[in-house]
Amino acid sequence: MKPLTLSDLHTRQAWPLNQKIDHTVGAIEAFVNYCKEHGRAPYASFSGGLNSTVLLDLARRYVDPNMPGVFCSTGNEYPEIVRFVRHTKNVTIIRPTMTPREVMARYGFPLVSKEQAHAMRDIQTSKSEKLRNYRLYGDGIRTCGILARRWRYLITEPYMTSEKCYELLKKRPFAKYNRSTQSLPMVGTMAGESKRREMTYINRGGCNIFSDDPTKTHSAPLSIWTNTDCWDYIHRFDVPYCSIYDVPGIDRTGCVFCGFGAHLGGGRFRVLYSLHPKLYQMAMNYTSNGYTLRYALRRMGVQLPDEQPELF
Ligand code: SF4
Repeated sequence: MKPLTLSDLHTRQAWPLNQKIDHTVGAIEAFVNYCKEHGRAPYASFSGGLNSTVLLDLARRYVDPNMPGVFCSTGNEYPEIVRFVRHTKNVTIIRPTMTPREVMARYGFPLVSKEQAHAMRDIQTSKSEKLRNYRLYGDGIRTCGILARRWRYLITEPYMTSEKCYELLKKRPFAKYNRSTQSLPMVGTMAGESKRREMTYINRGGCNIFSDDPTKTHSAPLSIWTNTDCWDYIHRFDVPYCSIYDVPGIDRTGCVFCGFGAHLGGGRFRVLYSLHPKLYQMAMNYTSNGYTLRYALRRMGVQLPDEQPELF
């Protein structure tokens, strides 16, 4: 089969909604059939966010009305999300073994982006000189995973930066659930969310990648969708969605303390502060090496809603 290209992805992203629905239903059916053949139970990984709401609805509307959803609760989600999840039928709630506070204290804050936080973690903790040098200076060939000049100040900061929260708060609980229930998830990620996801889509050759080893199988049936498609779908079918999306300034609905993308405006902290001030204060007081998340965000230049702008 001819390998996929970026231009193929862009062509698919420009398809009309009906064509995308057909394509996605085909991908869900293929995934469900694969699960049947390999003795696994399919489910939709459900975050209560826009994409996974669309994915769960598509799966139940067109493929299996009893498709289960699974939500991983860190205890640090917007209360609106938790309420919405609890009101959605047939959703199992799982939990990580560590709290966000413990994860921050042990591994550091999730700042900037997954890739940059990973680079920082390696620079701060890796025993491999070679890896540290790569994260700092690259190898003259590859460009991914190198700490950008703008974030070099993080190296000498007194707190730690890391992307480990994702593994500890999300990935491991799902892996444990999959093992204990012999299940496999579909996820609602979209290729257009980042360059990295675009490359993943192209390298995998589509929405599904099937392996003889079910743990290596991956299904992301909404890969070619955009945010606009998700909203069009929700409005067309009158799908219930979480009320947090009606609040201006919400750009993501994961953990409320997440510092990924905070440098791009910090709007989500303003929303959190105005809707749930206690939760906001709790998040700002998470510490790494005795320094608070508030301190780290200030150092990034994020204008926090309960602080005066600096006067020059
Ligand atoms: S949403 Fe942010 S803070 Fe939460 S697990 Fe994912 S990366 Fe970490």
